[in-house]
Order: sequence, then structure tokens, then C-alpha cells
Amino acid sequence: MSVFSHPEFDNHEQLAFFCDEETGLQAIIAVHNTNLGPALGGCRMWDYASDEEALRDVLRLSKGMTYKSALANLKLGGGKSVILGDPRKHKTEDLLAAMGRFLERTGDQYIAAEDSGTSVPDLQVMNRYTNNVAGVTERTGIDDLPCNGDPSPATAYGTFVGLKTAVKYKLGTDDLTGLKVAIQGVGNVGYRLAKHLKMAGAELFVTDIHDEQVRLAVTELDATAVSQSDILSLDVDVLAPCALGAVLNDATIPRIKAKVIAGAANNMLAHARHDQMLLDHGILYAPDYVVNAGGIIDIYYERIGHEHNAVRAHIETIADTLNEIFQRSDNSGRPTGEIANILAEERFMK
Ligand code: NAD
Repeated sequence: MSVFSHPEFDNHEQLAFFCDEETGLQAIIAVHNTNLGPALGGCRMWDYASDEEALRDVLRLSKGMTYKSALANLKLGGGKSVILGDPRKHKTEDLLAAMGRFLERTGDQYIAAEDSGTSVPDLQVMNRYTNNVAGVTERTGIDDLPCNGDPSPATAYGTFVGLKTAVKYKLGTDDLTGLKVAIQGVGNVGYRLAKHLKMAGAELFVTDIHDEQVRLAVTELDATAVSQSDILSLDVDVLAPCALGAVLNDATIPRIKAKVIAGAANNMLAHARHDQMLLDHGILYAPDYVVNAGGIIDIYYERIGHEHNAVRAHIETIADTLNEIFQRSDNSGRPTGEIANILAEERFMK
């Protein structure tokens, strides 16, 4: 397994491998870049098919966090950690404790948060052994409700801000009354986004693989239920993917009728070239990692101790960043995803 010559290595500053015989913990911490501050990123637990797959994932994800934090105007770098194993079978309190000790020994250049396969209670176990954990404190969330560290309310609010900004830029209106929005996935983020949109007067179309989520949106928010196969090609103004990645691809893009795409799902573009394809189809794509940065902004403020009004104000700066991206994209004729990456590099590279 190559490391320094790995195709995803891309000048990572630090890579730490950890093995704890007693608990069976095998984990990797990757710190991509700390020019702007300590690296913050999720701790993922996943049943990887091989060590190579785990290494590729942690390198790719940690680099993504550098770009995300830079564009969110945070004094943070990019990092990520992975625990190798099936969270349903291999996750024990002892294993999480060992991960907490590993985080402590690795130093303060990486701060872990929840991710796929880990939860706030899991991070709270790690937190007993280290200060290098975030998103674990009981507090009032930006929606004024009690919050156990879950960043979803902040992510949903940021996605709402991003969606409104893209609508204003592409469709020339601040008024969301009657705006048709299709939401793929009404889970933690998608459902809260739907609530914001409903309050702003939008007309909602939703789908989910879990019927009860759809039923809730239909009964509580007057949304129209749509099949999973139809959601991407609906005749709507905005498409908001809030479920899974790679939904923007060769097969789906030609069928999309929405003029704006703004949602929370990570890695929406199946391949970098789909960025250009969306531009060619006249669709304004609000880059996912800019739009869904509300969560990391929230976690950052939890660490520095500001209250939720400051978090809300910071999340609203997503609008400024998007407007700069859209404007530079128009001026240069280059797609928005590419411009976002360039802008991030301008901010974090010395
Ligand atoms: P979630 O699991 O709570 O919600 C996702 C929803 O999508 C679920 O209800 C699930 O049933 C549904 N879904 C899954 N596959 C689907 C499919 N094929 N068609 C329709 N629905 C499907 O997750 P979440 O926390 O709401 O996150 C949503 C997306 O936003 C993910 O891509 C996540 O990586 C990204 N994201 C979340 C946060 C956060 O703060 N939670 C932050 C940044 C990015």
C-alpha cells in the first residue's frame, strides 16, 4: 500500500495509523492542511473492504474538509478519521474509549466530530479521554430548541440560505411564495429544510426511502409525495438533493428540469465533469460543500463558546460566498464547482 505516492495523498501534513490489540481498534487519522487552523472533521466508522479502501476514503474526505472550512470562512483546517469495522457489530464502549485515547495522543491538530457510523453519544465516550472532540455539548440550537450536538439544524438553515441565494441569482426573486422545490430525502436535514421552505411559502415535493418520513412531510408541511424515480426529473424550480451522493450524473442531468440545484447531500456530482455538464444544461449548481457548511460552522462555535445568534450570522455568510462563486463563474464561463475549488485554494494556500 503506497502512502506518499498515493493518488489521493495530495500533500497531507499528517497521517496516523492506530491499532489497539485489546479492543480490536484499527483507525486512521488524516490531517490534510492546517494553514488556517486545527483540522476539524468527522470520525467515520465503516466496514471497509480493505485497508486500501479505508486509506483512500480518509485521504479524500480530509482534503474535502480543508476546502469546506476555507469556504465557510472558518479558522480551521481539514482532517478526517476512520475506524475500520462494522459499527453494528464491532462498536463497543471500550473501542470508542481507545479511539478517544488515540485522539488525545495524536495531539491537538485534529478534532473529531460525528460522521457515518458514529453518533453524538459515541463521541461523548471519546470525549472522556480527550479534548479533541467536537459537537458533543448540550446547548440551545440555532432553531432555539435543545440540541445535543447534532449539527443538522444548522446544516438545514445553511442549506436554506444557500437555496435562497441561488434562486435570487438565477431566477431573480427573493420571494419564495409558490416556488416549486423537490427534496430528495427528508431526514435530519431535508425535513428541516422543508420546514424553512414551507414557512417561506414554497410548494414542496418530497421523496424518501422511508415512508414515515414522507408521511410526516405530507401531513405536517402539506408536501406532495413523489416516487423515488421521479423526484430528479420533476418540473420544478429547484432540486434539493438531501439524501445521497453521486445523484448528478450522465443519466440524471439530461432529465433535470429544475434551473437551480441546491441541497445538503455531500458529493452530489458523480464526477468532476458533471459540473460542466450542469452549466451546459443551463442549471445553476450551488456547490454542495458550500451549501451544507452550516453544520461545521455550528461545531466550530460550540468549541469557541459563542451563542447561537453568532452561529446564525456566520451561516448567513454562505450567501456571500455563493454570490462570489456565481459571479466568477459567469465572468469566466467556468462551472461553479471548479470556481469553488479555486476560491478555497486561494484562501487556504500560503
Ligand atoms: P439522514 O440519514 O437523516 O437523512 C437522509 C434521508 O434520505 C433519510 O431519511 C433516508 O431515508 C433518505 N434516503 C436515503 N436514500 C434515499 C434515496 N435513494 N431516495 C430518497 N431518499 C433517500 O441524513 P442527514 O443528516 O439528513 O444528511 C443528508 C445529507 O446531507 C447526507 O448526504 C449528508 O452527508 C449531508 N450532510 C449532512 C449534514 C448534517 O449536519 N446532518 C452536514 C453536511 C452534509
